[in-house]
Amino acid sequence: MSQHPVRIDGEAVTTSTSAPIHAPYDGQEIGVVPVCDAGHVERAVAAARAAMRQAPLPAWRRAEVLDAVAELLADPARAEEFARVIAREAAKPIVTARAEVQRCTSTFRFSAAACRGLAGHEVPLDASAAGEGRLGVARRVPIGVVGAITPFNFPLNLVAHKLAPAIAAGCAVVLKPASQTPFSAIRLAELLLDECGLPGGWLNVVTGSGREVGAALVDHDDVAMITFTGSPEVGWGIRSAAPRKKVSLELGNNAPVIVQPDADIAAAAAKIAVAATSHAGQSCISVQRVYVHRDVAGGFLDALAAEVADLVVGDPLDEATQVSALIDEGNRDRVRTWIEEAVAGGARIVVGGDVDTAGVLRPTVLADVDADARVCREEVFGPVVVVDVHDEVDEAFARANDTRYGLHAAIFTNDLAVARRATEVLDFGGVIVNDTPTWRADQMPYGGLRDSGNTREGPAYTVEEMTELRTIVFA
Ligand code: NAD
Repeated sequence: MSQHPVRIDGEAVTTSTSAPIHAPYDGQEIGVVPVCDAGHVERAVAAARAAMRQAPLPAWRRAEVLDAVAELLADPARAEEFARVIAREAAKPIVTARAEVQRCTSTFRFSAAACRGLAGHEVPLDASAAGEGRLGVARRVPIGVVGAITPFNFPLNLVAHKLAPAIAAGCAVVLKPASQTPFSAIRLAELLLDECGLPGGWLNVVTGSGREVGAALVDHDDVAMITFTGSPEVGWGIRSAAPRKKVSLELGNNAPVIVQPDADIAAAAAKIAVAATSHAGQSCISVQRVYVHRDVAGGFLDALAAEVADLVVGDPLDEATQVSALIDEGNRDRVRTWIEEAVAGGARIVVGGDVDTAGVLRPTVLADVDADARVCREEVFGPVVVVDVHDEVDEAFARANDTRYGLHAAIFTNDLAVARRATEVLDFGGVIVNDTPTWRADQMPYGGLRDSGNTREGPAYTVEEMTELRTIVFA
């Protein structure tokens, strides 16, 4: 296969060595991408810097570019083309992949709105005697070149959550997509550059390994900000490698959900079954830990087991498939080992735990799990959900909070006082009442505490992160 070029300064770039990309589901080669190096990063950053300095784009033009992307992605044929790319490279079931494209449209629309509304504020200088007679304005100005590093699990929409706000903020971007899933990102860049009027240097894509290409981007003095989504280990490593840069981190999680006896138990079980297994649990807000009240635990577990057992496992391109392969065999085997460890520690497999004939790990429900097992403590990033029982809701709050992560938590209850208390006690970036922690709308502030990160994404919030306040004083 010939290389699918990346884009640097508007040009299509190939390299002397190639990286073949394989579909996680069946191992077939789906394409080949360039293997960039530090030299390509150098060219890309120089192009981005030159674009911002020599050809700044006014807000109305940036907003038009962003709206144009949303328009194109809303076209059914185009949306389907992108959904198939996602499904193939990430093994994301096609129905879920279509939802990701739809969300991406929304991310661009909200970024266009944030771009049009981007404004600073007047500073009331005459509120102090020293400022009397002076005019003060705090303007929002672009932070500079943004280096974006993205994970494999939402290869289109998480790229969009970085590119679109950066463009809205007036920042040129160098993007390093996940090595496993480069095609959604490259196609999105082509859309922006070739069909939506974004000038060349404003968006550059470099493919290659995180350790070489990602690190070169992190190290580059002319990159003002790194926006990173991925694992805590890599994210915090970047934070320490670039102490003088702005580094925004969206990291992992082991999301808890509490189910109270007054909730609609069947509805909660149905939602949790989907939220724990969607994209084979490879979402940072996938449900991992369930704390169900003892009075309803039996009925809940039966309902959850039935829902999970009914999920259709298979080829991501099959319309019926709800759960497909993990991103690679190494991760599948890691998750299996964690399940085996839990079982060795006394856990019970309620459903799943095995691998089907195509090598796909079936969605798994575990009960009676030791709280220190890795399936509880760490981020599984696989189709595994652990169910625990509590008597008092405070016990459930304490267990939910007992984690190094802090992205989203949730509670199912119809007791208003308990719901309200949950929003106060659960120490997470987001608390969802009467839905799963997996619920997200693209315009909301989204991000975590502790090992889950240090920022909030969502176009308006990201634009704020990607701009600085410049104080202007007229004497
Ligand atoms: P990862 O950390 O392995 O990789 C993420 C990106 O970092 C990739 O592009 C990779 O090539 C790059 N990278 C790797 N080493 C690097 C280095 N030394 N320097 C610079 N870049 C480097 O993560 P992944 O496996 O692709 O994604 C899964 C993780 O992402 C999970 O932990 C998940 O929870 C997290 N995630 C978080 C959010 C969120 O919004 N909080 C969303 C999605 C995924």
